[in-house]
Amino acid sequence: MLVQCRDLFMGEITRLPLDTELDLSSVEFRGMQPFTQPVHVTGEITVRAGVVQLSVQASLVFEGQCDRCLAPFTHAYTIPMEHVLVATLANEENDDYILLDNYQLNLDDLVLADILLELPYKSLCREDCRGLCCRCGKNLNEGACDCETRTIDPRLEVLSQLLN
Ligand SMILES: [Zn+2]
Ligand SMILES: [Zn+2]
Repeated sequence: MLVQCRDLFMGEITRLPLDTELDLSSVEFRGMQPFTQPVHVTGEITVRAGVVQLSVQASLVFEGQCDRCLAPFTHAYTIPMEHVLVATLANEENDDYILLDNYQLNLDDLVLADILLELPYKSLCREDCRGLCCRCGKNLNEGACDCETRTIDPRLEVLSQLLN
């Protein structure tokens, strides 16, 4: 979605409310398409002392697969976003400002970039996910497996494999 910001920069208006839904369903992340539901963006763009500022929050549902136990899960996130928008930039390398193209803000690109920064490094169904047993593959969130209770000396383990 392109937001036309020309009136803000020209001083015609000092506030532009935003309340919109973005379709990020085709976005691939870690081999999946986790944003199946529309991303709700609410907030405003304001002009104060000549500074054009975007202040919104993005509400989304992340549908992923747990990196540890492989179970599908959904998490809701609310991500606050603050950015200063500029129409021209003397130094193109400046990351602090969002440079608009012809006074237009590409809201999809900006929201997606912020979401990807905010998402945790690992996709986990829950913080303390116990994962799968590396021997039998049982989901340890559903209870312990037999391998866990059987404590075998690793050297004896090798021996018992040879005997088998
Ligand atoms: Zn898990
Ligand atoms: Zn096991």
